[in-house]
Formats: sequence, structure tokens, C-alpha cells
Amino acid sequence: MAHDIIVIGGGIIGLATSRALLAERPGLDLLVLEKEPGVGRHQSGRNSGVLHSGLYYRPGSLKADLCVRGVAEMFEFCEEHRVPFTRDGKVVIANSPIETQRLDELERRGRANGLQGLRRIGTDELREIEPAAAGTDALHVPSTGAVDFGDVTRALADTIARDGGRVEVHAGVRGARFKGGAWTIDHASGQARGRLVVNCAGLYADRIADLMGVDSPVRIVPFRGEYLTVRPEARHLVRSSIYPVPDPDLPFLGVHLTRRPDGTVEAGPNAVLAFAREGYGRWTIRPGELWDAISYVGMRRLARKYWRSGLREMARSTFKPLFVRDARRLVPALKSADFVGRHTGVRAQALRPDGSLADDFVIVPTDTAIHVLNAPSPGATASLAIGASIAQQVLDLPGGP
Ligand SMILES: Cc1cc2nc3c(=O)[nH]c(=O)nc-3n(C[C@H](O)[C@H](O)[C@H](O)COP(=O)(O)OP(=O)(O)OC[C@H]3O[C@@H](n4cnc5c(N)ncnc54)[C@H](O)[C@@H]3O)c2cc1C
Repeated sequence: MAHDIIVIGGGIIGLATSRALLAERPGLDLLVLEKEPGVGRHQSGRNSGVLHSGLYYRPGSLKADLCVRGVAEMFEFCEEHRVPFTRDGKVVIANSPIETQRLDELERRGRANGLQGLRRIGTDELREIEPAAAGTDALHVPSTGAVDFGDVTRALADTIARDGGRVEVHAGVRGARFKGGAWTIDHASGQARGRLVVNCAGLYADRIADLMGVDSPVRIVPFRGEYLTVRPEARHLVRSSIYPVPDPDLPFLGVHLTRRPDGTVEAGPNAVLAFAREGYGRWTIRPGELWDAISYVGMRRLARKYWRSGLREMARSTFKPLFVRDARRLVPALKSADFVGRHTGVRAQALRPDGSLADDFVIVPTDTAIHVLNAPSPGATASLAIGASIAQQVLDLPGGP
């Protein structure tokens, strides 16, 4: 018997989609296949944990729309499911005339995206909100929060089990073929059949699309993001979140300081090209995946454009003082000795053949499947809204349940 729907990937997007589908069609026969021993072991459990409010995104983009709607739903979900979170806001600080100009644009975007309480603040008010932060100009975003998205992902898995869906772990997908009106999916623990498939495989989403015969318009490139943990004695220097003004030419937000719901404070993440899709260690190399990345025409074009910032990021990853220098631009009182542990996440960033990084979410439907091919930050914040949107697309497919 074929399942109504198979979802590949037990990260926050796959599970949010499953939850939305089960809510729309109670009694649906839905199976999630996850390759790891548990859910949320990759991007969803290894990120900054910031509940973004929608400040950065181009008005009218999917990111802006789904982030603004999704963050409100996420706060409600956390309350309902007793997932600890904070809503302490954040400051984005400028330290030069060019950064002040960029802050103007951020403010404009934030207002266009309808952010509640967004305010330009002077140095006096900055000192009241974040006494240790250094900036000549700043934006205060009171609606930003923090959560452990790993907790959210596990809570989502509980709702799926409660609503009659099933999550099968140790089920890495290896093959797929469509025959007799259904997909046959070969995975590490056996085989499953499903009438429709939703591909939410994160760092491997383009590979799964390939397996399913889709000519993916993008290739996933893994970017490692490293964090340094601030020792308990220095945590008081950061009350909520302190961000730099992002460089508009780069797709990442820059090293920032964030207080997590458990009170720990972290600096990061940087953005270094990883030598493996799940390359959490600096020297984790998977030759096949590395070759796949560097032989891709888009990668060569990207490297030509960004080789300088790429080298800078590698230097910052290798030499702790460079990393610490960036964090100290935000909070000068932090000392090198205040940074202790280190941990890492890897971003799945979609790259186009022309060498441009896909900025917005990329979701590609076919007649019998939906492929989520780019769901970078604020994907976790927006996951419940993304899940609802994908669920609607699944229901609209010709063979939708
Ligand atoms: C360093 C970093 C910082 C970030 N910071 C933030 C932030 O502060 N706020 C925010 O909103 N977002 C942030 N993000 C983005 C956010 O984490 C992602 O948007 C989100 O987690 C994507 O979820 P996902 O389910 O698509 O991917 P994942 O969580 O990676 O899930 C994909 C799942 O698919 C599984 N899988 C892969 N291949 C197969 C296969 N063949 N068979 C079966 N299963 C498979 C994987 O094991 C994994 O569990 C950050 C990301 C990173 C990496």
C-alpha cells in the first residue's frame, strides 16, 4: 500500500510541512524518512537560534512574507508546547558613515515589512539597552527573540506522532522511481511507497531532486558557520542580541552576539566554504562532494567574485584573534580569554549556474512532488509559515489528497 505522502528529511521544514498537512487533512497517511537516528540533527539543531523579525528581507520577497508571518506563529507554538524562548529584542549597530547609510536601508525595509516597534536610537539609548555595545548609530528591533530550534523540531515531531503521522529514523534515502502512480523510495532500512513526495532534505535536497529526475535549477553549496562561546563571567556584557550592519554584497549577516534562552552567549557564525556537506570539522573532507562543488560552473563564477572575502573568512576561521576582533567591534570589553568553547553548523546555500547565491527561498513543484531547494536563514524562524505554504502546494497538486 502506498502512503498518501512521504516527506524526506526530519528537519524543521520537513516536520513543519508534515504538521500542516496533518492539520489540513486529518487521517492522512504520512511518513517522514530521516537518515539520522533522530530529528533536527543538522541545520535545524545547529544554528544561531534567533527568532528573526523580518528586518533584512526585500519587501515582497518570500523571505519577508514568510518570516513576518512565521515568527508570530513560532512564538505561539513555543508558548503552546512549552518550548523555552526569549523575546528581548536586538540592536543592529553602525560604526562608520557607510554603515549608517546601510542602516537607513535596513530601517526602510523593516518598516516596509511592518515590524512592530522598530526604532532608530542614539548612543544614549543604545547604552541603556546594551550598556557594553559600541556604536555611533543603531536600530532597535524589540520583536526579535531566541529559541533552541532543536527543541522546536522535537516538539514538532511529537505533534506529528500525536496526529497520526510517522517519523522513521535511520532511513537515509538512496533511490527513487515513479511507477504505477506512486513513488518507490529505497532507504537505508528498506523501501516505502508514496503517491506524493515532499523533498526537505536540506544539505542534500538537490541530490534528492536529482534522484527523482528533476533538473535542479540550483546546486547546494555548504557554508560552515562557527561559533565561539562566551565564558559565564563575561555573559553580562550581552543582554540580548547585538548585530553588525550586514554587508549588502554578502548573503550572511556577519558575526553577531546572541544570548540564548538558557543564558549562554555566543559569537558567530562566520561563513567558510565547507569541504563536505556535513563538514562540521575544519578538516572534514569528502572528496566526492568537494569535487562536485568545485567542478560546478556556478562555484567557479562565485569563487571569481568572492575570492577575497572567502580568504578573509578562512583566515578568521583559522586565527581566533581575527574572529575575536569582529566580536570586539560590537562589544569592546570582551577579551580573547572570554571566548572558550567552539561549535559549528553548516548552511545549505543554493547557488545558481551564473554564480549568484539564491537569496530567496526556492521551492520547486512537479506533478507528483515538491522540492525545497533553498531554505536558508530565516528558514527556521519562518518554518511554520513555510510548512503551511508547502502543504497548500501539495494539496493543489493534480493527485493531491
Ligand atoms: C550556522 C547557521 C545559522 C543559522 N541561524 C539561523 C537563525 O538564527 N534563525 C533562523 O531562522 N534560521 C537560521 N538558520 C537557518 C535554519 O537553520 C534553516 O533555515 C533550517 O534549519 C532549514 O531546515 P531544513 O529542515 O530545511 O534543513 P535541515 O535541518 O538540515 O534538515 C534536513 C534533514 O534532511 C535529512 N536528510 C538529508 N538527506 C537525507 C536523505 N538522503 N534521506 C533522509 N533524510 C535526509 C537530514 O538528516 C536533516 O535532518 C541558520 C542555519 C545555519 C546552518
